[in-house]
Parts: sequence; C-alpha cells; structure tokens
Amino acid sequence: MRTRKSSICRGTAFALLLTAATLIGCVKEEDQASSSRRTSSGNGSSLSQDNLLLCDTRDLDQDSTNQLSSLFSDFNKMAVNRAASTSAKVYTIPVSFHIIQKDSTLTGGDVSDDALIEQIDVLNRAYSGETGGTITPYRFQLASINRVSNPAWHTLGPGSSQEADAKKALRVGGATTLNVFVSDIAPPEGQKGTILGYSTFPFVYQLQPEVDGIVLNYRAVPGSNFANFNTGHVLVHEAGHWLGLLHTFTGACDGVFTDFVSDTPREKPPTPGNYCPIGRDSCPETPGVDPIHNHMTYTGDNCRTEFTPGQVNFMRFNTLLFRGMN
Ligand SMILES: [Zn+2]
Repeated sequence: MRTRKSSICRGTAFALLLTAATLIGCVKEEDQASSSRRTSSGNGSSLSQDNLLLCDTRDLDQDSTNQLSSLFSDFNKMAVNRAASTSAKVYTIPVSFHIIQKDSTLTGGDVSDDALIEQIDVLNRAYSGETGGTITPYRFQLASINRVSNPAWHTLGPGSSQEADAKKALRVGGATTLNVFVSDIAPPEGQKGTILGYSTFPFVYQLQPEVDGIVLNYRAVPGSNFANFNTGHVLVHEAGHWLGLLHTFTGACDGVFTDFVSDTPREKPPTPGNYCPIGRDSCPETPGVDPIHNHMTYTGDNCRTEFTPGQVNFMRFNTLLFRGMN
C-alpha cells in the first residue's frame, strides 16, 4: 500500500458552528491507495484497463476523522437535523465545467458540449435514484462551460502547481457551486498510472475555498471510447466525495473508522480489472457482501448504480455544515 500524507492547513484554525457546538482545529488529509493500480501510463483507449485508479480522492487522517466523527455524532442527535436529512427538500447545484484542453482535438481533451449536457443528465439520474438505490436531495444544473487551451494545465495532477494555478484562475462561485476541471491527470511525481478523477471534501472549503472542486479526466465523460468508465459515473462518484462521502472500503475489514455510514458493508478495495465482482465478500467476518453496486466503490461504471440512506444522511450532514445548504 502506498501512503501519502499532506497537510492542507499548517497552523490554520477554522471554526464551525453546529448549533451550540464549536470546533476549532486543523485538518489534514491522508491518501492510501493500492500501488498495484499505478503501474502504467498512456493516453486514450489504448490504456490498460487493469492499470488505472478510478479515483485519487484522499482518505482522511486520524485528526480529521475524529473531528468529523464528533460533529456527525452531534448531528445525528439533533432531531431537527434528522428531519432535514429525510425531508423531500431538493438542492439544485450549479455545475461549472472548465475544459482545460491541450488542443482542439478529441485526444487533446476537447470534450463536446453534448457530452457535458449528457453528463449533467447522468448526474441527475444517479442522484434522483433513477439508476437504483435511494433518492438523494441533490440535483445538478449546467451553469457554464469554460474552454481553456493550456497544455501545461492540461496535465495537472493532484497537489501540483498546475492544479493550484488553474483552480485559482478558473474557479467560480461559492461553496454550493460545483466546479469541474476536465483535463488529463498526471500522476503525482514519482508515480505512474492513470487517474480518472479526484475531489475535495466539503470541510476543505472552510480551509481552502480556492481549491474546492473536482478534477475529471476527459476520458471519463459520457460517450468517450475509454471502456468501463465512459458513461459518466466517474463524476457521479467524485460528486459523492464533493458532497462528503468517503469510499465504502475506508477502514477495510477491521478499521476503527469506516465511511461513517452504517448501511454500506465493509469491504477491501475491489480487485483491479474486475469491474463487477458479483457476490464478492472480501470481509467474510463482517455482515453483508461487498457493496459493489455502490457509487462510492471502485467497480466499473455500469456496476455502480446506487447510494444508501446512510450515505444520504452523511451527505446532508456535510452539505449543511460545510456548504451552507440549509
Ligand atoms: Zn473516490
């Protein structure tokens, strides 16, 4: 397992008001991902389907987990918030796409307007429960498409200066605007592999609003020729992170902390290359088989079709506290 830690606030204090409860602290991020998913690089459909990372969104470190856990516990004790989490209220999220292309060719990242319009439809079908699972209160509306030709930014990677520069220059809106930076994604220095997307979490907005948003590989938009991940469900997954969700395999079989959601069975990260392992039970000592159909695992696009009620509650907690969606 590769482990990367990066502090996103060094000495930065932030205050979060949850009725009478106030938390002041510093949040860090930690990434743990299988190095076996980072063994090749390349472009377009010629990439091996066994050598990619669906998502490079980072798990939380212990301090962040403890802080969120405490706040989430308070949230769940509050009847008013429980009622809000199960209400029929709908939150429509404006989506601003930033197409950071190398050139005006398809392989240069020139994603069509039609693909982006279809992407919004895919988000709405997933979050409305049309594809399965629980109906969430979130819907998405196309706000803008901004096209930028910049070869250096086109290959921005997680934590890179190109990412920081691009987001600083392009990002629009506040905490409730979803900015999606569509580009190629270079793996971190010293690493190899293909990353299809990554996102910030809602609490990060309180610390660094300028980095808020999702970076999406242009190969993962609907209609591309990148098999298994070309129906738009990668952005559904990343939007889940942007709304607060962690991977369902967080904590694997016996970790103290999991994904904060009690109705997603424990699992180990799905095996690379097996995109819909029906019946897989990687944690046989714990209840339930692997949640292979959940949007927040690492199976293929067509396998990931649902959110759970517990995930909806955790999204509501996150968007209420950190994105001001009352
Ligand atoms: Zn992810």
